Amino acid sequence: MQDTLHALLGLQEIDRQIFQVESELSRLPKELEARMGGLAQREHNIAERTAELNKLRAGIKEIEDMATGLRQRQRKLENEAASQKIDAAMLASYQHEIRSVKRTVSSAEDDGLELVGQAETIENEIAEMRAALESEAPDQVAFRDNVATETTAAQAKLAELQAERAKLSSDGISPEHIRMYTDLLATREGEALAPLVDQVCQGCYVSIPKNLAVRLLRGNEIVQCPSCNRILHRA
Ligand SMILES: [Zn+2]
Repeated sequence: MQDTLHALLGLQEIDRQIFQVESELSRLPKELEARMGGLAQREHNIAERTAELNKLRAGIKEIEDMATGLRQRQRKLENEAASQKIDAAMLASYQHEIRSVKRTVSSAEDDGLELVGQAETIENEIAEMRAALESEAPDQVAFRDNVATETTAAQAKLAELQAERAKLSSDGISPEHIRMYTDLLATREGEALAPLVDQVCQGCYVSIPKNLAVRLLRGNEIVQCPSCNRILHRA
């Protein structure tokens, strides 16, 4: 049974490394996805701000057109008011309308200025967002390359470890023990064995009964921790 334990410990060492490489292989694409997702979100924000800016610009154009029309109307009224053919009452009426048109133009101009200010703020924001994205572009390329390199290296390492594992697992361990070990590996996050120190399982830190510790010391059988089921071995 000491041989089985010894072989299982060798297997455990390989599997610990396989577990690490596999978690790296599952982490790398997620990291890349998170990074790219962040980029897409920022592109989306820029598109949204640009749509807002276009709406503001359309509003500004509308106000400008209205003001132009009103100024034309003002000039027409002023010309008519200057004509010799009108009497005092009509002149007063023209002047009243001219004042009213001037007030409307002035208020439209104020509204237009307000919108121009808002548009400038958004333009600056968009320029900053774009500049930030562009300045980060080389980092993005480097990040992507780095993930690709790390993935290739991890895959090569995994293949190497799996070959080594295949050699070890066919190395005198009974199918029953292999099955026990493999199940534990899955349920115990890659740690199927645990050393026993002072009657305490180092996998789950629970004390085991003395008789089990004695059976482990005798070395004639596989002893599992009653609490976490890990295969116990002497430290
Ligand atoms: Zn345990």
